[in-house]
Amino acid sequence: MNQNNNKLNNIKNATCIIYCRVSSKEQTENTSLNDQEILCINFAKKCNMNIESIYKEDGSAMKPETRPMFNEVIKKLKNGVADVAIFAFIDRMSRNPIDAYKILQLVQEEGLTAVFVQENLILQTPIRAHEMLMLDTILGVSNYRVRQDNEKCKAGILAKALKGFRPCRPPYGYENDGPRDKRTAVINEKRANFVKKAFELYATGNYTISELANELYRQGFMYELQESQIIPKQSLISILKNPFYTGKYHIKQVDEYKAGNHKPIITEELFEKVQNFLDSAPKAPRKYNFKYSKLLTCITCGHCMTADVKKKHNGKQYVYYRCTNPKCNDRVCISETILDNDLKTYLKEIRLGLIPNKIVKNVLKNELYSHTQKLAILKRSKSHKYNAERQAWEDITRKNITDEQYIRGKLANINEKYGDLDSKIYVAEKQLETVNAKVSEAFENSLYDVFESFDTITKQKILSLVSNVFKSDGNRLKMTFKSAFRKIRKR
Ligand SMILES: [Zn+2]
Repeated sequence: MNQNNNKLNNIKNATCIIYCRVSSKEQTENTSLNDQEILCINFAKKCNMNIESIYKEDGSAMKPETRPMFNEVIKKLKNGVADVAIFAFIDRMSRNPIDAYKILQLVQEEGLTAVFVQENLILQTPIRAHEMLMLDTILGVSNYRVRQDNEKCKAGILAKALKGFRPCRPPYGYENDGPRDKRTAVINEKRANFVKKAFELYATGNYTISELANELYRQGFMYELQESQIIPKQSLISILKNPFYTGKYHIKQVDEYKAGNHKPIITEELFEKVQNFLDSAPKAPRKYNFKYSKLLTCITCGHCMTADVKKKHNGKQYVYYRCTNPKCNDRVCISETILDNDLKTYLKEIRLGLIPNKIVKNVLKNELYSHTQKLAILKRSKSHKYNAERQAWEDITRKNITDEQYIRGKLANINEKYGDLDSKIYVAEKQLETVNAKVSEAFENSLYDVFESFDTITKQKILSLVSNVFKSDGNRLKMTFKSAFRKIRKR
């Protein structure tokens, strides 16, 4: 206990990040995000900490590096944004050793303090042997429980499936027959012939998927679910990929194939042959999202420049933009790397700090609106709660009620209705501070600094918003800003 007191002293007034997690996939959950949050906030308040942010994630922690918010927390902690990470329980942090190790490493190497409120465990370097054992044991046990639950659940689904229970509709070529709980798939002769022919023709290797669709129709095999009676490409592909036609079926929930109690339409050999052709069929080329397409024009003719991917000798791929206007004299061509570099120089000249104060204040007001509203509502609730309590006491006194259980119940009801308002207000105030600081910080940057953190689509939107001219002569990018943005430009 003495040890914990020392540790608590170390983190007085520190900045912390709170991380809460539930998983809709795991069955062993019992503490809601809000309950976890309350536990963590109470701890933070006790140490008078500043809460940098609160993350609430819905995600399984069985596999490492699959939780976006957890990854974000790790990134922030690595960058020294906070000195303390607070979790309600050890298994809320992680159920897998790899993610857990990341936290431990931050504790040991970066001086992070990791707090697990419910276990009353505060980890600081050096981590003691008994603390490590506790951590390992709890992680191991919780991991085991989830895996065991999953196994039980899978076994249940499998047992049902083996008894012939199939919740979904059988594929084209079969019909459902029998009572609802004991349905079996029976062959529909006409549709089954269609399916069989499709497999046979495709296995010759003479047809692409769309040619096959037409050939089936030409040979008089009609697809009954389509008005044109020609099977759509995607439906044909799903038929050709479905092992159900060989008499097996796929139990999706456990990703296993079982012999079904329905009659096969095709042999397994035929199915395999078709799979081989499907695998070797040329795939659609990968779609690139070209940053500057529809934006960049040719300086000579004004035509839009088209993006293209080129592979160099070293195997690396490069994106180029070229003028495809056949009447253009220059046929300008430029690499994306050059454009990126030139753009950087342009955007660095736009100083967000030069945006007039009036505009900044308006933006800030909008950004903060929901937070200030929330805070105002909470503060109003606080006075409502106070009034409700006063009213209750007046009643009790007036009626001379002495039944303590009744009184406690009445007060508990009020508490239930309003919740822990002090904690909520504390969090709302801290959030307001954080957003305020973040927005102010953004205005100290150049447009380039914020631009870099956006995704391609946002980048495209911003470029078309700020630029007047966006063209190239093949050597460099020539860009001019719209007048509103020229005013906040500084070379
Ligand atoms: Zn041109």
